[in-house]
Amino acid sequence: MSTAFPQAHVEKEELNLPQLHLRTVLADRFGFADFRANQEAVCEAAQAGRDVLLVMPTGAGKSLCYQLPGIVRGGTTLVISPLIALMEDQFWKLQQLGFRAARIHSGLDRADSRAACLAYLAGELDFLFIAPERLRVPGFPEMLAKRKPTLIAVDEAHCISQWGHDFRPDYRLLGHYLQLLRPSPIIALTATATPIVQADIARQLALIAPTHFIHGFRRHNLAIESVETAVPDRPARIASLLADENRRPAIVYAPTRKLSEELAVRLREQYKAAAYHAGMDANDRDRVQRDFLDGKLEVVVATTAFGMGIDKADVRTVIHAALPGTLEGYYQEIGRAGRDGLPSRAILLYSFADRRTHEFFFERDYPDTELLKRVHAKCTDEPRDRESIRRALRISAEDFDKAFERLELLGVCASEQDGVVYRTGAAHGRVSWQESYAAQVSQRRSQIDAMQRFAESHDCRMATLVKHFGDATDRSPYCGQCDVCSPEQAIAQQFRELNAIERKAAGTVIRELRSGNARSTGKLHKDIFPREELSRNEFEAVLGALVTAGYLFMEDASFEKEGRTLSYRRVGITRDGEQLDANDLALLRIREAFVSEAAGKPRKRTGSSTTSPSTRTKNGAGAEITLNPEETAREQRLRVWRSSEAKKHGFAAFCVFSDKTMRAIAVDRPTTVDDLKTIDGIGPAKAARYGAEICRLCSEV
Ligand code: ADP
Ligand code: ZN
Repeated sequence: MSTAFPQAHVEKEELNLPQLHLRTVLADRFGFADFRANQEAVCEAAQAGRDVLLVMPTGAGKSLCYQLPGIVRGGTTLVISPLIALMEDQFWKLQQLGFRAARIHSGLDRADSRAACLAYLAGELDFLFIAPERLRVPGFPEMLAKRKPTLIAVDEAHCISQWGHDFRPDYRLLGHYLQLLRPSPIIALTATATPIVQADIARQLALIAPTHFIHGFRRHNLAIESVETAVPDRPARIASLLADENRRPAIVYAPTRKLSEELAVRLREQYKAAAYHAGMDANDRDRVQRDFLDGKLEVVVATTAFGMGIDKADVRTVIHAALPGTLEGYYQEIGRAGRDGLPSRAILLYSFADRRTHEFFFERDYPDTELLKRVHAKCTDEPRDRESIRRALRISAEDFDKAFERLELLGVCASEQDGVVYRTGAAHGRVSWQESYAAQVSQRRSQIDAMQRFAESHDCRMATLVKHFGDATDRSPYCGQCDVCSPEQAIAQQFRELNAIERKAAGTVIRELRSGNARSTGKLHKDIFPREELSRNEFEAVLGALVTAGYLFMEDASFEKEGRTLSYRRVGITRDGEQLDANDLALLRIREAFVSEAAGKPRKRTGSSTTSPSTRTKNGAGAEITLNPEETAREQRLRVWRSSEAKKHGFAAFCVFSDKTMRAIAVDRPTTVDDLKTIDGIGPAKAARYGAEICRLCSEV
């Protein structure tokens, strides 16, 4: 056993347990031939008694990571789980495997709970599942402490953090009560925790030198696109994106119940589609879920309520009909595509209007601190009638409810079912509740910002998500599939040539950055267009075109101001950008927002596949062409070379040339550098730098 970790916890020897080998138990009791990625290391750490923080996406096999070490350590593993459905599911699965499991939650009667407690105290259980609010029942934590568990698993651990996207106040009890059950090691599991949430989980659960396992966020079979699309255009756009039957079954996420219904009606014109949301009655929801699983429905238009526990392996497409509220939620939702490992797509439709919607909800859900202060001041330690307080404050029921809900979430006020409210007297450590609230407000705002930045970004979509979750072992900046890495493979994103003004702006940006350092995009805009001759949005689009082509790089940066961290985007020039000339500028392509003719802007058509080989390849983005075997082999050679070239210099493969250009080279087979220059995407700079090597590759048989 490694000595690098403090051994604060119970060891097997002390408990006189037989040494069981993890692999033997994995095969004999769980019936699995082998571990999945990362499971073994996690199980070893938990078996050895270390505290563990495990962040892996849904479906990665996290449950085994507490169940197997739990069995090997012997005694009872206590599992805290927030949802009855999840608890029941695990309970039945474990029973079927022949383990002794019990659960205690509000859906069971008292006799069952009593029996579970007695079995626990008699040492007859391998697993005991409880909901966090159980710990509030007087005497319950003490009962657990009479016979301590040998392992504690906290499932959905992100719920403990107010920085997460699914905070549950009951989870806050854990920090205190689990201490009574120490020295059992704690394993905290979640599918969704950013680095600040991870730190918060560890702090609140008082984990001792936890081993972090944060893995598996890169999805290799998911092509992500994010496309600016006007709101009225979205229904038709979604319908047409799903027209190819290989893109179904599909889940479409809608922002509201009403929109999910409306969209379902529209999609039913073409597909077997249904809505799914929390406002429907349970039977209807079950039926939709079942029909989707059975293949009787091809498209479900859902609010975020859909998906918890859905295990449909062959979902080909997940479309977001609007900008989601958090990147964590978004990642979970797109994660429902392609569980079978086959190529799948995630398409996000957004526009600035979505930002306004989020602002609206933000204002509604996070009332002014002054209002919270007034409500808090009126509550007392003695329970008082909710309605009379509201009247005394002369505020609307809606304002009162929102403010009170925040105070409850902050833990400083509480309410009973009979309409009485009171102050809890809970302390917030060294910070006041006002400070906690201010931090929550700013956290919520930065979540919306992060989501919007993602939508508008010119960085690889997958790399951005992996980075967001803080998997430090995965640094690849390039996925090769998203609309940024492989614009030519995009099905929703469209590109167009720059107009004269944009092209001129691109030239000015390059000149400006050649003579100076990297700087913030905002400052660059002001420096070049002090009178907003080009709007900030148009300017960003031009920068995006230059970044995608590999002439500029963009990165997140931040600075401290008055104790706050402010983030911004910094842009600088790449080596290719230093060498670029006017001809290269003519080849730039800009992302086109999808706006229908009705909305005033004609949509560009892409090329067809019936034209002659050399012109085929020069058609617009997205043109599908079929290569003959020789061309395919050449394309493959070019791809291998491109990837090693990119690796050597540490930039993305498309910076060498895009897939579209590669295909054109494979078809045209240039033998001289001059020939090569006639191909779209190869300007003089690239021709000079790579020409000889490309021609050599093309001359190989
Ligand atoms: P998570 O909690 O990470 O979402 P689960 O624990 O529910 O994932 O596991 C997902 C599926 O993978 C389950 O059906 C589980 O039985 C299966 N599974 C887990 N570990 C293994 C393994 N080592 N070999 C084969 N299947 C596994
Ligand atoms: Zn990518």
